[in-house]
Amino acid sequence: MFTDRVSSLQAEGAYAVLSRAQALEAQGRKILHLEIGQPDFPTFPNISQAGVEAIQKGQTHYSSPAGIASLRAAIADSVSERLGLNIGSECIVVGPGAKPGLFFPTLALVNPGDEVLYPDPGFPTYAAMIQVAGGIPVPVPLREENQFSFDLGAFDARLSDKTRLIVLNSPANPTGGVIPLADLQHIAEKARKYDAWVMSDEIYARLAYDGLNVPSIAALPGMLARTVIVDGFSKTYAMTGWRLGYMVLPAALAERVELLLTHSIGCTATFTQVAGVEALLGPQDKVAENVAEYQRRRDYFVAGLNAIPGVRCQVPQGAFYVFPNVKSFGLTSKEIAGRLIDEAGVAVLAGTDFGAGGEGYLRLCYATSMEVLRESLEKMAAWFKSL
Ligand code: PLP
Repeated sequence: MFTDRVSSLQAEGAYAVLSRAQALEAQGRKILHLEIGQPDFPTFPNISQAGVEAIQKGQTHYSSPAGIASLRAAIADSVSERLGLNIGSECIVVGPGAKPGLFFPTLALVNPGDEVLYPDPGFPTYAAMIQVAGGIPVPVPLREENQFSFDLGAFDARLSDKTRLIVLNSPANPTGGVIPLADLQHIAEKARKYDAWVMSDEIYARLAYDGLNVPSIAALPGMLARTVIVDGFSKTYAMTGWRLGYMVLPAALAERVELLLTHSIGCTATFTQVAGVEALLGPQDKVAENVAEYQRRRDYFVAGLNAIPGVRCQVPQGAFYVFPNVKSFGLTSKEIAGRLIDEAGVAVLAGTDFGAGGEGYLRLCYATSMEVLRESLEKMAAWFKSL
């Protein structure tokens, strides 16, 4: 009845669990929310203020489809500084969130029948965008023992002359894993050999712990010319609802993507972009403060999970997710997630909401208060013990 393009699209697991949680809450049940992946901090006041003032000053009309000049320049400077590169504004395209930065370059690069490698488990939009572009999704398993980086043997085995695009995500959703530099070097070498593009989703790059500087494949020799960096303001600046993100890509590809934006979204809200300029050029101490707070929560939560007999949880190096292994209980991830919300009142996602490779794992978001984390640990420990 509908096109192949949309017929097998699926919802994001987080939304399904959220609506189950809300249904239980409507019956008077208390639910602890660990399912939705967004900062619990408010947008920083100076950023909100800049957005409000922009509206009051009448910055409420169309802007250029690729974004306002001041924001593109601020992004170019910020990315150049982070990666030690010299990137010009012509290589920056702004969009409403990071998601358009995933979708539109994929439409511009992938022809029907082209193969696209992407992490499994991985952010659900990757499979969706490949499918809509008519590409062939080629999931590559991640290895728990290797900070949830690719199993490089499996990666090599899936590469071929048909490989058009390789999707990376570091730090990753759902695992919190960071791809080590040595793995990036291996992947870069293969991308050059097979003449493939790389899409590097770096939306969590500034949410990394223990002082880690997350390496980017774009900074490796020759890679900027075949890499699309996807990033945005949602996570770093707690701006999920503002809808503001960007991509960094070679100028010729940027032109094509700008045309796709012109004919689909038109442009990103102008006052949102003004707020984005303030986010980048204003004080950054709140970012560091929030990262320190996430790290405190991570340490507490991972220790608590590992204290539950049968649960094994790696210490993630970035993002705000943990991905504990629950294989020892002999139930599927879906069964465990379903029963945790119904029987223990703790809303979590099944690892399989992120692909078949997530079987045996759960995803929990610790961007919430210590109090919620403490209560969740108590409830989960009691529930697992009862099995
Ligand atoms: N990429 C990853 C890995 C994410 O986890 C998310 C949001 O959860 C996004 C992209 C989308 O970000 P945005 O809300 O800015 O579109």
